[in-house]
Amino acid sequence: MQTTLEQYTVREIVEGFQYNAFEGKGLFGLGGQLTIQPEYQRNYIYAEKGQDAACIHSLLKGYPLGLIYFNQTRDGKLEVLDGQQRITSIGRYVTGKFAIVDDHGNQNYFSGLSQDQQDTIMESQLLVYICNGTESEIKEWFQTINIAGIPLNDQEVLNAVYSGPFVTAAKEVFSNSQNANVQKWSVYVKGEVKRQAILQTALDWVSQGHIKDYMSLHRADSSITEMKAYFDTVIDWASTTFPLVDSTMRGLNWGQLYRTYHRTAYNPAYVADRTRALLADSDITKHSAIYEFILGGEKDVSLLNIRAFSANDRRTRYQEQTNAAKKAGTSNCPTCVTDTEYKHTDYLWDIKDMEGDHVVPWSKGGRTELSNLTMLCKHHNAMKSNH
Ligand SMILES: [Zn+2]
Repeated sequence: MQTTLEQYTVREIVEGFQYNAFEGKGLFGLGGQLTIQPEYQRNYIYAEKGQDAACIHSLLKGYPLGLIYFNQTRDGKLEVLDGQQRITSIGRYVTGKFAIVDDHGNQNYFSGLSQDQQDTIMESQLLVYICNGTESEIKEWFQTINIAGIPLNDQEVLNAVYSGPFVTAAKEVFSNSQNANVQKWSVYVKGEVKRQAILQTALDWVSQGHIKDYMSLHRADSSITEMKAYFDTVIDWASTTFPLVDSTMRGLNWGQLYRTYHRTAYNPAYVADRTRALLADSDITKHSAIYEFILGGEKDVSLLNIRAFSANDRRTRYQEQTNAAKKAGTSNCPTCVTDTEYKHTDYLWDIKDMEGDHVVPWSKGGRTELSNLTMLCKHHNAMKSNH
């Protein structure tokens, strides 16, 4: 791959700038020679983070904006590899799409700036590397660069590397915040639609975690039927099995849960009752694990991270047990007293060598509270199930 360093003024770059507000995309610049948002680039997201104004302030102060990379296409035109958001910010500003706030708190559109401020922006030099190479060279390189501003996340890089008909079709469905299903999907999937969170999840589920392989295999497909059907199946299964909607459902690996449990029959009314009861249980510290716990027949209590006894309660109970043990001349671990084989029947343990134990396990209705606490030596606590 060859690269050459060029300088452009902002005036040159924004010539013929076009912005598509509906798609949130900067489209063209350099009098039509430059494609600002090629297929593999993400949507314009600077505006949401307030970084577009920061970009303009930098120009006005003469700060460098960082390197920009263009790729030379076969027909001799250019497309932005890295710098799309900076260029779109500048283009939007000089075409009057937003205002910046100056030191006195005044809103200033480009047209409201003084002539010398306008000139400062328009004559700012942008440093651009122009890359010339094969598609795979460019993409390999693209995968390794660290983008100034907001780094590309994993899925955005994969979309670049495996760009083609499949990614295009997939993004139309899964990366489109206008899609009416997004609200429903967001009950189960965490993250921003625009930043490919739903697409990444759909790929993860259908590929059982092998996203790269799946994208590589289907790269030239123009149909996403399999992925879409799988995603819909998982979501439908989750929403039918767990009729009670709660924020703790978001971001679970529903694809994995579906694969493991979809052959088991569940009674939705019963499941809803159990979900409600477990969500209200303050001794459970990992409420997001309730779903897997229920699917597995409520056997694996360790999923739920049952709350531990407080240091205060442990100290209180330790003192009581130790005082009583001293009077009786026995160990302060009640199990040591009766475990003659262990030969600690009159041993007084230090508090740091003892642990809190639920007398009645959580699974049998025992609570994490002083009245249900016994201090046991570590040996005997480990021998007893904690739940
Ligand atoms: Zn003991």
